[in-house]
This record gives sequence, structure tokens and C-alpha cells, in this order.
Amino acid sequence: MDIQKISGKKCSCGRVHQIPIKEVIIEENALDQAAELLKKTTNQRKIYLTLDQNTKKAAGAELKEKLLKADFEVVEILLKERKGDDHLVPEPEALYKIIENIEHDGYVLACGSGSINDLTAYAAHKMQLPYSIVATAPSMDGYASSVSSITVDGVKQTYNTTPPELIIADLNTLKAAPWKMIQSGLGDLLGKVSSLLEWKLGVAIFDEYFCQEAFEMVESLLNDLFNNSEKIIAREKEGIEILTKGLIYSGVSMMMVGSSRPASGTEHHISHFFDMYAGIFQKSVPTHGIKVGTASFISSNFYLKLLETDFNEFELEHNREGREKEIREAYLDKADGILELLDQRWEHDLITKEDLLNQEEQIKSNIREFKDYLESVEGILDDFGFFERKDVKNLNRDWLKKAVNHGFELRFRYTISTLLRQAGLLEKWGDHVLSKLDEKLSD
Ligand SMILES: [Zn+2]
Ligand SMILES: [Zn+2]
Repeated sequence: MDIQKISGKKCSCGRVHQIPIKEVIIEENALDQAAELLKKTTNQRKIYLTLDQNTKKAAGAELKEKLLKADFEVVEILLKERKGDDHLVPEPEALYKIIENIEHDGYVLACGSGSINDLTAYAAHKMQLPYSIVATAPSMDGYASSVSSITVDGVKQTYNTTPPELIIADLNTLKAAPWKMIQSGLGDLLGKVSSLLEWKLGVAIFDEYFCQEAFEMVESLLNDLFNNSEKIIAREKEGIEILTKGLIYSGVSMMMVGSSRPASGTEHHISHFFDMYAGIFQKSVPTHGIKVGTASFISSNFYLKLLETDFNEFELEHNREGREKEIREAYLDKADGILELLDQRWEHDLITKEDLLNQEEQIKSNIREFKDYLESVEGILDDFGFFERKDVKNLNRDWLKKAVNHGFELRFRYTISTLLRQAGLLEKWGDHVLSKLDEKLSD
């Protein structure tokens, strides 16, 4: 995969994809190349290096030494987790700390994963400085991204940022990442099985924009994942490379399309719903990837069941009052925003049974192409120990049911959950798959 081959050229989808990332390096000992790569990329000699205690140990200290040796001036910005948290949360306080330490010249370099990347990218964007990332864990797909998620008053918000110029992933560092972070990355990547199908569902029913290149890129990443999952579990170089590549290039696919359509569907909405409740009730929830991976069990089951269903059985009912009432009950003080969204999407989403029947064959053939992946999701989750995780076993079942039934209202994006809700089947299918999940978790 070569970004330069994708960027700036007319694609078969009719668009010219602009990917501002200059280089992605995923290699053993990539850290040794960092100083050289930066010299090629910038004339600035002053580097603002953001890290935390963990990433400093993992790669940051070594990176700093290498930069100093190459005659860079390094301003270290060490971020700390809040008391009581075991990890850094991307909150405004940490953001201010970065911005405070940055002047109007120089180059911003992050050394870390999710939170550090989100915070640093946003700070650099605000200060209008270029930025690059040295990845320390294959834990999420946000390295190649033009948005940052920052938690403000307990609520995750998404902000536009400038993507990194360089993404440097040293496989020696990533191989040694905590198991939980590898599980998280796997979960985020596994979620693409359903999100790709969600995209095709939108294309079939609404003739949404589609890019075959972006689709095929993510599918080939998934294919590598399914064929090499034991190598990831064993932390072999090849396995970690596949996982890291999968996560970074899923990000690239979103940049190509200009939205998260290829990489986020029902499984992500369920995860986002949990994040929202975590903010409202001030409770901690599993990492993004752990939630997305677990929710993939649900979304993949939905698709397999859809394949076996005669679309003639669907009775579509567009009951706006019912939806509004449920939104008020499920979204609590966030209901107003979601109701506004319902207002925006209502007309768009009004499909008829005829629309559905016309596309039945197309939709089913899309699912059939993914049947092997869909059927493998559960086994992969098993192999990676998702169902043994305490935080997954302890997932609040009431929240989970609400997330399955109402998560789809969070975004203006047609998914299988939207369809099932319109067919009056979401609760029934949801309960069915949740009881299956419960069985897995009680083993
Ligand atoms: Zn994700
Ligand atoms: Zn394209």
C-alpha cells in the first residue's frame, strides 16, 4: 500500500483523493529512522515531544535521545493521567498543557497511541504547526485521521485536525505493547466487517457515494487479519505488522472517503452509546476497541440473520412518535440533539418495502461475500479472550440493551439497525443476540 499512489490522482470512483500524510513507516527498528525522516520532512530544529510515563518507557526516552543526537532541540511535554485513572484521558486540561508549552515555531511530535495522538494532533492544529506521530501501540484506527476526539465534561466530542505528516510505527515497540491494547486494536479492526457491509447497505438502498478502492483496501486488510490472527496473538512481527497496517490504513480509507462510512457502523454506534452513558453516569467503560469488538458480535449476527430472512416478511412502519418517545427515554439530557438529528434524517430514511425488495438480491449477495468473515467474528473474539475479560463480562446489561436498540440514532447514517428498527424487529433480534452473548460471557 502506497499513499502516494492513492493521493492526488483521479480514482475509479470519480474523485481525486487527497491524503496529506507524507509517509507511513511500519518496520522493525523504525525508531532508528525517525530523526532522518524528520530532517527530510521539516527544516525546523525544535521538536515538541508529547508523551506520558508509559510511552516514555516504551519508546519516548529512546526517541528523544536519537533526536538530540541528530542535533534537534527537544522540548519534552510529559502528560499525566488524572488521579485515580490508570490511563490518560483526552481532556481539555491535558490539551492546555500541550498548548502552553508550544511556541509559534517548531515541530510537534507525539509519542503514544489513542489519547496522546488525539490531544497532540488537535494542539498542533490549533497552533498551526505541522505534526507527526510515533506510534506505541496498535490499539485503535486513529493514527491516520483528520479528526480528534476530546472528552469535554465527560462527553466525547469530535474536532477537525490536520493529519500527521509522518506515521512511524516501530514493530519492536508495538510488539511489546500491553495485551489489552492489542486486543483493543483487534476489536476496532474486526468492527470493519460490519461497517463495510453497512456502507454497501447504504449504497444499495440510497445509492450513496462508494469508492471501490477504499472498500477493497479495507477488505484486504481484514482478509490479512483473518488469515493471520494466531500470529497477532503470538505477537509475531508479521502479525503485529498486519494489525498495525490494518488500523492505519482503515484511517486512510476514511480520509479517502471524507467520512467514517467505511469504518464505522452499528458496532461503533453501540460503543459510542456506552461512551455517552459513561459520561452521563460518570462510570468507566472498556476501551473503544474492546467495546467495538464486543459489539461486532452483535452486528455480525444481525447480518447473518438478515441473509436467512425473506424480505417479504418485513413490514416497514415509520412511526416517528414512537422513535421520539424512545429517544427521550434513552438519551436523557442528550435527547434534544438526537431529536434534531432525527428531524434531519427522517425524510431521507423513509424507505418503502418495494425499495427493500428491489435490493434484496444485491444486499444478500453483499452479505454472502462476507459470510466467512461474519462467521469468523465470534471465533476471533474467543481466541483473543474478549469473553474472558472482566470489563466485558461486567458490561452493564441495561446499557447494552439500550445501546443495541437506540445506538443507531446517534448518527445520520443508515445501518442494519436502522432497517431493523423500521421493520419493528430491532428489539427482538437484539434480545436474541444479547442472550447469545450472555451465554458466551457466563461460560
Ligand atoms: Zn473505531
Ligand atoms: Zn475512490
